[in-house]
Amino acid sequence: MFGDLRYRTLNYELKKTFGEKIIKLSVNAGFTCPNRDGTKGYKGCIFCSKTGGGDFAGNPELSITRQIDDQVASLNKKWKSDRYIVYFGTYTNTYACIDELREKYYEALNHPSVIGLAIATRADCLSDEVVMLLKEINDICYLWVEIGLQSSNQNSADFIRRGYGLELFEERLNRLKESNIKTVVHLILGLPGENRDDILKTVEFVSYVMPWGVKLHLLHIVKNTDLEAYYRKTGFLLLERNEYVGLVCDCIERLPESIVIHRITGDGKKSDLVGPLWSLNKLKVISEINREMAIRNSIQGCKHESKHYAK
Ligand code: SF4
Repeated sequence: MFGDLRYRTLNYELKKTFGEKIIKLSVNAGFTCPNRDGTKGYKGCIFCSKTGGGDFAGNPELSITRQIDDQVASLNKKWKSDRYIVYFGTYTNTYACIDELREKYYEALNHPSVIGLAIATRADCLSDEVVMLLKEINDICYLWVEIGLQSSNQNSADFIRRGYGLELFEERLNRLKESNIKTVVHLILGLPGENRDDILKTVEFVSYVMPWGVKLHLLHIVKNTDLEAYYRKTGFLLLERNEYVGLVCDCIERLPESIVIHRITGDGKKSDLVGPLWSLNKLKVISEINREMAIRNSIQGCKHESKHYAK
């Protein structure tokens, strides 16, 4: 068991590492994305909203320091802490010139309450120069780097307009791992055209490349995205809560027990969500996942088989 849960949560891992609860706060560093600025495309990934995943991040007009100060002040109303991890999660957070990246990362790190960084990016925005900077940062703080894979299936990658292939993903992930940088892979459950076997194939691939952590996302439809238009046109089926709960448990059972599971639910804003609406009740989703794991008497990794991944 991992504390009183049947899977290794980020909360469990951070408590074990730091001896206390560590809170993550989000900043918006004002980056863009090659899928948005025309380098790879203008429309972004099919599910991505205009905020680039930054619904809960700060205001990019403000300095990183000011954004951290504001969030610490607001978090301190509920939770007194002087140790935070700053999440660069809006758009692509290694997509700028190296001097700008260095300046922004160090500005966050120089804040007295910050002990680490979490940086979300794409595999095609991790040049050797960027990895060297990340290694430098990794040597002085707690760092992890997140990459959006979503699926190992090439048809799905084309559908979502990810913009790079599996080989590049694997190569850049390994480059980070060789530099001792912790990696987190994002996966989406419920993509149109994918069934349970496709999802488990992606989990098999992830178990083979062995990142430090995984984020499991429910496919949810955000207003004014191309995915919304596709949904209205085709009426493809969104996952029901019981299907999602079963799939998450299937994934947890197959992920090696050392992998930290950062997320098992969606994180959409109520006002922007088209569906599935049941996903708004996150506590219910989490409690049903915990219940299902208990009913199955399962624990993370109980169905993991270490074997070579057949591409
Ligand atoms: S890579 Fe991220 S920020 Fe860029 S379009 Fe895709 S989801 Fe949005």
